[in-house]
Amino acid sequence: MKNISVILLLVSVAACSGSNRPTAPQPTAVKTPVKNVIFLIGDGMGLAQVSKAIQQREEPLNIESANYIGLIKTSSSKQAITDSAAAATAFSTGVKTYNGAVGLDANGGSKKTLLELLAEKGYATGLIATSGITHATPASFYAHVESRQKYYSIAEELVDAPVSLFIGGAEDHFDNRVDKNRGRPDNRDLVKEMAAKGVTFISALDELEKASGRVGYFTADNHPESVGNGRSDYLAESIQPSIGFLQRQSKTGFFMMAEGAQIDWGGHANDIDYTISELYDFDKAVGAAMKFAKNDGNTLVLITADHETGGLTLPAGDTKSDEPYSQAGHAFSSSGHTSVMVPVYAYGKGAEAFAGVYENTEIYNKLLSVMGH
Ligand code: MG
Ligand code: ZN
Repeated sequence: MKNISVILLLVSVAACSGSNRPTAPQPTAVKTPVKNVIFLIGDGMGLAQVSKAIQQREEPLNIESANYIGLIKTSSSKQAITDSAAAATAFSTGVKTYNGAVGLDANGGSKKTLLELLAEKGYATGLIATSGITHATPASFYAHVESRQKYYSIAEELVDAPVSLFIGGAEDHFDNRVDKNRGRPDNRDLVKEMAAKGVTFISALDELEKASGRVGYFTADNHPESVGNGRSDYLAESIQPSIGFLQRQSKTGFFMMAEGAQIDWGGHANDIDYTISELYDFDKAVGAAMKFAKNDGNTLVLITADHETGGLTLPAGDTKSDEPYSQAGHAFSSSGHTSVMVPVYAYGKGAEAFAGVYENTEIYNKLLSVMGH
């Protein structure tokens, strides 16, 4: 008897060795794969940014309709605090890399992105951003470059990238030198090169209806304006026609990434109005994506951030008043990014796979898993 007890004790010790932390049950496999994914990235959109946006408006945000919520850890391979390139590369390739790397692993090796992988499998693919289309977040889905600053090299990679549709700024990274301040410093004209390869360039969203093959839409020579400076709501307006276009290009399904790029820039500027107006603009795109997913039934809408920007907190508004807690104020604690975990909001088919606390690289694995790959 005594020996048996010892054996049982050893077995139970072995079973618990390492950590006593309870592990989550494995998520049950999705019965049929998710056909379409709309991945919305609010650059720099931490929980405080979303909280403030909710507090400042009577009607709920579209983000609040997400029914499965997760938290991601955002550190990069070398740094505790990530930049947008390393974070987007974690999403797009499933590996942690160093800050500044676009589509490369920590040793500088090229990694096939989710977008490239899905394109090979026959999916239509789309990228939409309120920054230049060569900026770190969208670039990390199609380019493989050692530094995010190499915009002209990133632009060159878009020439042959399997991107069915892109919408964003930075036409100057593609055009031949327009004047001494604009265009590429070399003699290439990537717009002409792409057109020669069959890419159609449009100048309004309604042109998408008749377009086919590969399509590009430059929304600015450099970065598009902020919402506060008059940018149209093309991010939200482009969701429905882009979906229609992508669906016409492939029966397999589509993968679309749409980015609210300037939420981050409001954070860097410690400008709460800039941050929140960009967040509302982004949330309209979330609403358009959710509306489609609800009707479609085979689409996942995944919303997250690459990191938080500005170290935003929401302390008491007026600490000198008798009731300091009567109003939420705001305070930025940094002009850069922070290491706080950021929420993941999932809606639609396969959404339950995104609940939990995990590394940002798991976004890649979970997306492929729910899509049946
Ligand atoms: Mg970005
Ligand atoms: Zn930033």
